[in-house]
Amino acid sequence: MKGKARTPDLYLSIVEHFDAAHFLPRYRGPCRRMHGHTWQVKVTVTPEPDLIIKDGMLIDFKDLKKIVRTALPDHRLINTFRPFFKANPPTAENVALYLAETLRRKLHVKKLLLSEIEVWESEKASAKLVCPILFYENS
Ligand SMILES: [Zn+2]
Repeated sequence: MKGKARTPDLYLSIVEHFDAAHFLPRYRGPCRRMHGHTWQVKVTVTPEPDLIIKDGMLIDFKDLKKIVRTALPDHRLINTFRPFFKANPPTAENVALYLAETLRRKLHVKKLLLSEIEVWESEKASAKLVCPILFYENS
């Protein structure tokens, strides 16, 4: 019986950190006031179907880190970093959404799909966005 050869699912991840301040204006508690975090971001990518893997790499980790670093609001006040955060308070959830949208475009140029993004605002608290394929098809 002949079957179509199946290639394994392949995912690549990098972790980056950035320091940034934020405040949550509508929050009832200390996070209403400006404060800072050392944020951690984990970005996981997978190849678009037509990506041809060269030299055994989806992308050089160094290049993926560079792409992610250029999107991060390092040493910034996130509330004023982009217009997105005027309408959406800079919670870990919204930082993940903002980064997903920004990275999606940059990764598409490299024929990569954003598979997951996880944003920690402390060692013990993160927001994780698992990006469905439909996320790409409608934009
Ligand atoms: Zn905070």
